[in-house]
Amino acid sequence: MKELALYFQDIARRESIEYADIRIGHYRTQFLFLQDLSPKAINDFERMGLGIRVLYDGAWGFASSTKIEKGEIERVLKKAIEIAKASSIVRGDYRVKLAQEPVHMDKYVVPIEIDPFEVPINEKINLLYGINDEMLKVKGIVKTYSYMELRRRDQTFASTEGSLIETTIFTSNAGYTAYAVGNNDTQSRSFQDYPLNKGYEHIRSLKLKENAERIANEAVMKLYAAEPDEGNMDLVLDPSNLSLTIHESVGHPTELDRVLGYEANYAGRSFATPEKLGNFKYGSSIVNFVADNTLPSGLATTGFDDEGVECQKWYIIKDGILVDYSSTREVAAILGFPRSRGSARADSFSSFPINRIPNLCLMPGDESKTPEELISDVRRGVYIEGRGSYSIDQMRLNFQFGGDLFYEIKDGKKGRMLKNVIYQSITPQFWNSLDGVTDKRFWEPRGFLTCGKGEPSQSAQMTNGAPYARFRNVKVGRGRR
Ligand SMILES: [Zn+2]
Repeated sequence: MKELALYFQDIARRESIEYADIRIGHYRTQFLFLQDLSPKAINDFERMGLGIRVLYDGAWGFASSTKIEKGEIERVLKKAIEIAKASSIVRGDYRVKLAQEPVHMDKYVVPIEIDPFEVPINEKINLLYGINDEMLKVKGIVKTYSYMELRRRDQTFASTEGSLIETTIFTSNAGYTAYAVGNNDTQSRSFQDYPLNKGYEHIRSLKLKENAERIANEAVMKLYAAEPDEGNMDLVLDPSNLSLTIHESVGHPTELDRVLGYEANYAGRSFATPEKLGNFKYGSSIVNFVADNTLPSGLATTGFDDEGVECQKWYIIKDGILVDYSSTREVAAILGFPRSRGSARADSFSSFPINRIPNLCLMPGDESKTPEELISDVRRGVYIEGRGSYSIDQMRLNFQFGGDLFYEIKDGKKGRMLKNVIYQSITPQFWNSLDGVTDKRFWEPRGFLTCGKGEPSQSAQMTNGAPYARFRNVKVGRGRR
């Protein structure tokens, strides 16, 4: 691959273009899915190919191929140049510029203990089978699902600026759901999946089977749980529930391409516009969001992004104030930032890299605090675990989130189980109502493997870690009647 990357640099530098880069990728994914005691999917697939990006007269061209050889690199380069030339005719006044980035000659490999592809399929199927079997033994459970997803990506990146970067990324994930029927209702409960850039040792450490009976029992208990009172009350949210709220209300609105209006699909734009940088009170003074693409095992920890920018760590919200964004070389240059934040990622060799949410995490508190201590200071509220339904508007302001497991909080104590709870708020109002977080012992790097963005749509992975957190006076309602 390295030899082909050097060949690309050699021929691309002879063309009269502003810039070009290549990604040669090899992707392997194993996806296992069981419904009850029957395997419904045992997929093990590999894709290989190369994608070339060309900048000519301020306009992009992009082309890709599944053939990895010198002649094809020449052909794809020519095609990308043609497309860039055609694009430059219709680009109007807008001219793509790239923020500066040092030249990198480097390698990055996600450290793993057990190669997930070396573990026999049998062992994986047996684990998932055992989980479903355990859950189906619980009275009231009518359906179960369990799954595992293992990924490896080998990529060689090279640019006409001279960078040559080889990366190997491993990702492991598993989870399951139990469905219960009874008491004129149907409810589900899930083991909240926990993807990380780790090897199979991560799957073994999750205690998947050990929790199956508990998860199934909780699904049945939900059938008999009460619905919440409606009105404003306090919330204590667990890291898994918060990860999705963070993703939608902080992650997406601080993607600089959306902020600038260059991306408008899928609840596309953002209220967090550049004049707010350094002065907008996004949250209360204890709200600190750190983007960290160097986070060990983080899903966006790839050493370098897909345009050769080194992974970085920076504040997006500091002491409650909006201070920065995630960015690519192109959008960073539009605002005159000295450097891209290294957030350009593509889901395949055949996709153009776009501005992605980094590993974006709510920081834990410095003071020692447990989830119980957060709850002890709530007179009337709800404690929520896990993820449920969600929606958010075009500017990423008005939102509604559910959860997977709910308990009433009364006079400082966790009380009876509730069901069908949703909370509604407006992004800055919500984050300004945060008044307590647990310390780092209770911080969890939860994350996502299927963040959808772009047209045509691409899927990306990132970690959105959080401690437990308490929010005051949030509107709570019932998800269904
Ligand atoms: Zn997303």
